[in-house]
Amino acid sequence: MKRIIILFSVLAVCSQAFGVPQSRTWPASGKVLVRATDEQEPVNAETMDSQAFFDSNTSARYTMPDPSAKVEALLKQMTLEEKVGQMTQLEIGQITDGKENNIQINPAKLEKAIARYGVGSILNVKDIALSIDKWHEIIGAIQQAAQRTRLKIPVIYGIDTIHGANYLQGATLFPQEIGMAATWNPELMKRAAELAAMETRAAAIPWNFSPVLDVGRSPLWPRLYETFGEDPYLAKVMGVASIRGYEGTNIAAKDRVAACMKHYMGYSFPQSGRDRTPAWIPEIYLREYFLPTFQAAVTAGAHTLMVNSAEINGTPVHASHYLLTEVLRNELGFRGLVVSDWQDIQKLVTQHGIAATEKEATRIAVNAGIDMSMVPGDYGFSDNLMALAREGAVPMARIDEAVRRVLRLKFDVGLFDAYMPDAALKANLGTAAAQAVALQAARESLVLLKNDNGMLPLAKGRKVLVTGPTADSLMALNNGWSYVWQGTRADLYPKDRPTILGAIRAKAGESNVAYVPGAALEKEINITEAVNAAREADLVVVCLGEGAYAETPGNIDDLTLPEAQLKLAEALMATGKPVVLVLAEGRPRIINRIADRVGAILLALNPGNEGGQAVADVLFGDFNPCGKLPYTYPRHPNALLAYDHKAWEAGDTGFGYTAYKPQFTFGYGLSYTTFAYSDLKLDKHTIARGGEVSLSVTVKNTGARAGKEVVPIYLRDVVASVTPPGKRLKRFAKVYLEPGQSRTLTFRLGTSDLSFIGADNKPVVEAGDFEVMVAGLKDKFTLTAK
Ligand code: BGC
Repeated sequence: MKRIIILFSVLAVCSQAFGVPQSRTWPASGKVLVRATDEQEPVNAETMDSQAFFDSNTSARYTMPDPSAKVEALLKQMTLEEKVGQMTQLEIGQITDGKENNIQINPAKLEKAIARYGVGSILNVKDIALSIDKWHEIIGAIQQAAQRTRLKIPVIYGIDTIHGANYLQGATLFPQEIGMAATWNPELMKRAAELAAMETRAAAIPWNFSPVLDVGRSPLWPRLYETFGEDPYLAKVMGVASIRGYEGTNIAAKDRVAACMKHYMGYSFPQSGRDRTPAWIPEIYLREYFLPTFQAAVTAGAHTLMVNSAEINGTPVHASHYLLTEVLRNELGFRGLVVSDWQDIQKLVTQHGIAATEKEATRIAVNAGIDMSMVPGDYGFSDNLMALAREGAVPMARIDEAVRRVLRLKFDVGLFDAYMPDAALKANLGTAAAQAVALQAARESLVLLKNDNGMLPLAKGRKVLVTGPTADSLMALNNGWSYVWQGTRADLYPKDRPTILGAIRAKAGESNVAYVPGAALEKEINITEAVNAAREADLVVVCLGEGAYAETPGNIDDLTLPEAQLKLAEALMATGKPVVLVLAEGRPRIINRIADRVGAILLALNPGNEGGQAVADVLFGDFNPCGKLPYTYPRHPNALLAYDHKAWEAGDTGFGYTAYKPQFTFGYGLSYTTFAYSDLKLDKHTIARGGEVSLSVTVKNTGARAGKEVVPIYLRDVVASVTPPGKRLKRFAKVYLEPGQSRTLTFRLGTSDLSFIGADNKPVVEAGDFEVMVAGLKDKFTLTAK
């Protein structure tokens, strides 16, 4: 229901934002704040090495005291009702009334939830971003109610701080995960997560349902933008960076939160491409592509985990004892809390059809390994679980195990020491430091995909027509999980942050910029007017892409960019004026009709509120682009291979057909300077098991501008018992180089980097040749049989 109501209001707001024709303005009016132009900032001027970063952040030690004795002492005093209460998570509507900022605690509802049912956790807000004062008021009232109970166990509140604190007015919004992945800069990811944690905690919320560690290998999937892209290694490094940023080494600290890795596992590769639909993923590929990010996060110490709402190979993950207990607990060694996703125990009945009653579904899910149910709209879970425990259908040992994990989390985040909101933390919201990091991240996330004849950067004095549905929209730059679930409340976005149009006006001078919408996302508005304006301009910046969406409402039937937008671009190109295409989109919409003919393409992967300024900075050369694609940009809707496809698929797969022919490859991205690679050297060409190869390569900035370059190291297993991919990413570095400067980078590859999942679903390392590839350079080494 939540979803349906929201969907309608979303559509209404979207059509307002994108569909209303606006008259041409030349010169334009309206003031937006744009920062003074920054020079290229050598942030992280030191070379960032992915593996050094990963290792040091994975091995960081937590400093919270061990609460086991306190947990056991408390557990001994608890009744069955109190235990089941701790395993129950409800949404805020179960304790409040009213809408928007008139939301108020309903004392009777609060009493029922906290005193009668002893509910352990509450989440989210409906369709509104609350002020920080309101958050303190509501969470304060919840905690006071908890203090009136027999054991005074605090309630843990959780929200989705996906790219900045959601549901919180004035929060800083960073690029979405897909944009952060395009920075290939885990230091920056970690810093953004630290700031997002600080702002979330400032609102008295210690639990964050992030990061998404599903590897984004289905471009249709509406949650692609919530992922770190298609490659497990990049996603692993960025995932650990975000967890360390959220959690630090002490999640009781007043600027940290508990992370929640999600959605374990295989959620991101549905057969239909649609949200929450079945996946067929053989175990060999589950383990090869989808498990490593979770494994890395568990090793790094992430405290909680959320489960995939959908099914894999016919088993809903919420019902899978194999995945939730055997793999997660026994193999990966996860010791934290497992929370269900939204309503997913009920959905074992209503959607998946593997249980006839909710009671039966509860038995299956809790016995499979669910510790807490995000119910979230009623008391069915609590009533059923109490009955099941009394009947012995769910063993008390299983309940105790789950409750221990809930209590432990509450001790770890410091709720037993300080349960009331801390007014002093309010100053941590929306700081200048956070905004500066958001801007840097937005800039580094932009990917320059095409720049024929050095068309970009643009000179500032020229007449520019700005057009297209994403030109004047902070929604398109942010996407979902922005102040509200769908991100579609235009009124909640900051008034002082420029859209792409606003930032171009501020930079190029208002009298130099005309704006004609041309088209909405799905329909034409005034293409003829846009064409006429183009004729009067020196060049055109056409901004296409997507609006804001989250989860199922973001499902699409066709990956191709909508017809109205393609028509607008084609009409503009037909004028013969130079056309720059700016894409603001959460997934790679097919653009093959225009991509080869347009002069320049800049891709904005949901860069957040600073995205408008960042785009203008790149277009006018105030920032040298350095983002690289975190996914393969497909050329055709039915040719959706990732970069690590089987080697032969890149050649003639028969009768002149090639399976792999992307529009742009994974890792692609241009700069305003040029880089040359040389001297790829391996310290040895033969290693034994347990051995290591050290490789070095020199990168030189051969152009006239300072810039950052991402240096990816790929490996190809030449012969293997499971058909080997053409290449896999094994390491990367991000390096800052002044013009003429060069650096020699060194990377080490060990035997574990040569491992893959064998036909028996177990990791294996096989002797033979391995090819190392860096830019155009190649070399080989051999792993001997012993
Ligand atoms: C989403 C989760 C999210 C939860 C709570 C679910 O619908 O799948 O990612 O954490 O809602 O908002």
